[in-house]
Amino acid sequence: MINHPVLVLNQTYEPLNICRVRRAMVLVYQDKAEMLENGYGTLHTIDRDLPVPSVIKLSRLIKRPHQLERKLTRMEIFRRDNYTCQYCGKVTRNLTLDHVIPRSRNGQHTWENVVSACVPRNRIKAGRTPEEAGMKLRTKPSKPHPSGLFFIPSHYSGIRTEWEKYLPQLKAK
Ligand SMILES: [Zn+2]
Repeated sequence: MINHPVLVLNQTYEPLNICRVRRAMVLVYQDKAEMLENGYGTLHTIDRDLPVPSVIKLSRLIKRPHQLERKLTRMEIFRRDNYTCQYCGKVTRNLTLDHVIPRSRNGQHTWENVVSACVPRNRIKAGRTPEEAGMKLRTKPSKPHPSGLFFIPSHYSGIRTEWEKYLPQLKAK
């Protein structure tokens, strides 16, 4: 349990990163963070039972050095889409970029028009719009959160249900 993932929010409730229970409990019991969700029950110690956080919020505002807008790159699109094909929902490392409105139809290379697609779906769709190809986007593509730095680490396969309300753009699997 001590290594379970904990969602860390800035003082503003903005998602910052994911740490482990061990680190989160140290922050909470040093009053550097507040527990928002107890997702893992309690940890029995010699003299007391400590609630184990699954979401914490830092007491102080963390200003991050790189508040720059994200650059529109392949990797950033895949991250935004949580490594999920936006047409069939498959989570895969073998993704391609798809222009929803094809470039041949003057589709723009923008956050709103570029999505992750698995190779088979990209082949099927080819130079067509989703409507023409009989395909449906699972989410409306948009620019990532302005601060843009939070993403689920690639080794981490899913998010916990109690994190969802703090991560409106993501859903637990
Ligand atoms: Zn697919």
